[in-house]
Amino acid sequence: MTDPPHLSDLSDQSFVATRPIPPRTGLSKSRIAIFEQCVKRLWLSVHMPELTLESDGTRRVFRIGHEVGAAACALYPDGIEIDGTAGMGAAAKATAGALVRDIRVPLFEATFIHAGVAVRVDLMIPDGDGWQIAEVKSTTSVKPYQRADLATQLWVLDGCCVNVTRASVRVIDRAFVLRTEGDYRGLFIDEPAGEGLAPLIAARGDVVASAVATLAGCEPAIQPGAQCSEPFVCSFVGYCNRDLPPAPAWPVTLLPGMAGKTLARAIAKDGIDNLLLVDAERLTQPLLARVHAATVSGVPYHDAEAIRCETDGWAYPRTFLDFETIAFAVPRWVGTSPYQQIPFQFSAHVDHGEGDLEHTEFLSTDGADPRAACAAALASLPMTGAVVAWNAPFERSCLLQLASAVPGHATALRALAGHLVDLLPVSRQHYYHRDMRGSWSIKAVLPTLAPELNYNQLDGARSGVEAQDAYLEAIDAATSPERRELLRHGLLDYCRLDTMAMVVALKRLRA
Ligand code: SF4
Repeated sequence: MTDPPHLSDLSDQSFVATRPIPPRTGLSKSRIAIFEQCVKRLWLSVHMPELTLESDGTRRVFRIGHEVGAAACALYPDGIEIDGTAGMGAAAKATAGALVRDIRVPLFEATFIHAGVAVRVDLMIPDGDGWQIAEVKSTTSVKPYQRADLATQLWVLDGCCVNVTRASVRVIDRAFVLRTEGDYRGLFIDEPAGEGLAPLIAARGDVVASAVATLAGCEPAIQPGAQCSEPFVCSFVGYCNRDLPPAPAWPVTLLPGMAGKTLARAIAKDGIDNLLLVDAERLTQPLLARVHAATVSGVPYHDAEAIRCETDGWAYPRTFLDFETIAFAVPRWVGTSPYQQIPFQFSAHVDHGEGDLEHTEFLSTDGADPRAACAAALASLPMTGAVVAWNAPFERSCLLQLASAVPGHATALRALAGHLVDLLPVSRQHYYHRDMRGSWSIKAVLPTLAPELNYNQLDGARSGVEAQDAYLEAIDAATSPERRELLRHGLLDYCRLDTMAMVVALKRLRA
């Protein structure tokens, strides 16, 4: 069997690139996006890719992207995927072959090359004589860089004379609720390209020419700046920052909250990056003033009397409660929505006020919807006394969502939600140790109050994100029973420490 013709071999076909194709530049839609973030990033990713540092965050983004892409394709059971494993050239040939044969079914990852730029189109759906195209995204709204991606695709498709009747960015609809297992109709909504895309498309030629010139030149002399984290965290930060002078031990960027960040930017504009060198009079907000004073003096701010005053009324039994949750872009369980936080685990330490602590926990790792079992386990907690959380709005939201999903336990769950009190604002108002470095998360506060309770001693998950990774691995059918058991132990230890941390933190904050 002969290979399907390459687009550039088919100058008598309507969809063929009729413009001359310059020498290969190795550009793609992603590389154009990288170029638009930072010209140096493009140069490094092509000429020095070994310097890139792939993070766990990047891997998570890829995993979610694949999940969403698969759900988008599954809506077209008669669709054909263009194989890209043999490279862009082969994929473009396969696409051209499909178009020559006038295949009128949805195409996934159809590949086109124009002026040295290769693009893979997530979805191409037959529409009369032409094609609708959609760029599938895992976000719930359209970002500017996604519109630029779409513009690059349309520019290439125009160069290849493909008749595009409609173009859109296809994003997730948060309002979608999975009503029937596996039925994802309605999961996506389309944001049409619209007239506003025309200037972006018109500029593509110049953008591509600049990218080509960049790649042909020396490493661009670009200093790190705001572009290093917008719209994505750049994977060359370590390389580009290697020659920068070391940051001060207590940078102004430690100032917390919106007000702190705004003030830090203003101070940095005056050439000061060291919080120790900032005039105290610039810190007019009481919270920022406390952070500054504690950082400069090294003496923690601790108003134990105010803390006792605020927490004396927290009735016994005190139930210290913490949830771990998972949120899927593509909902897995009937009755759930995209990115809904679903509790798969909780830990509760109950303090009866007589020096003894009772511990209750729940963890689901069988991959089934955990909500009913979680609600039943929660219903066994004391229905009187305070329910202590660190950032109570999160626990309240978990309890109330569970109450809606599991009506049989709604009364108990609403009662628990009604008894919630919050240790986070208490500590924020009345305690600060400079080692917290501008954060009041329990993981920042705990080492300053109880260094013997250390998250780094845990063998498994040590953060909420790691707990989510562990949960996903545990419910994966490919995970061995031994590994699953190990992950279970890690998750139980982690969540138990979260609630024990609150018990100890409250005691020492009051001391
Ligand atoms: S770290 Fe910043 S300056 Fe360096 S390549 Fe990335 S975006 Fe450009």
